[in-house]
Amino acid sequence: MYKFTEVAEFKYALSLDNHAEIMEALTAFCKEKEIYAGSVSGIGAVNEATLRFLDPATKKYVDKTFNEQMEITSLVGNISMKDGQPYLHIHITAGRSDYSCVGGHLLCARINGACELFVEDFFDGTLGREPDPETGINLYKF
Ligand code: FE
Repeated sequence: MYKFTEVAEFKYALSLDNHAEIMEALTAFCKEKEIYAGSVSGIGAVNEATLRFLDPATKKYVDKTFNEQMEITSLVGNISMKDGQPYLHIHITAGRSDYSCVGGHLLCARINGACELFVEDFFDGTLGREPDPETGINLYKF
């Protein structure tokens, strides 16, 4: 699902396999390395992506799937822990063939080409999450 190397202490470069699903591969990597506090950044290309938009009025996520070839112009996010598992909060901006962009909270995306990520493990920490009734978001639990 991925190849990786540790480029510096607790800093990893990942190359996800072509046709892998990004969130599945990234979650598997975090489980393998037991990362529960960290950050993610990356670029790549996908041909299917489901993005989420949180409607503050309803506190519900609205999902939309884009089935087209797009460049990941930016993928950024953070890693924490919820219910004992790695919890990935990832946002993405993807460029279409007409050079316009779509963006949002990343639910899932299928790589078509490549996906290169850096993951930093904040080794000493664990960041927890808990639901916030006011916003409907799982916020950091400090
Ligand atoms: Fe989000």
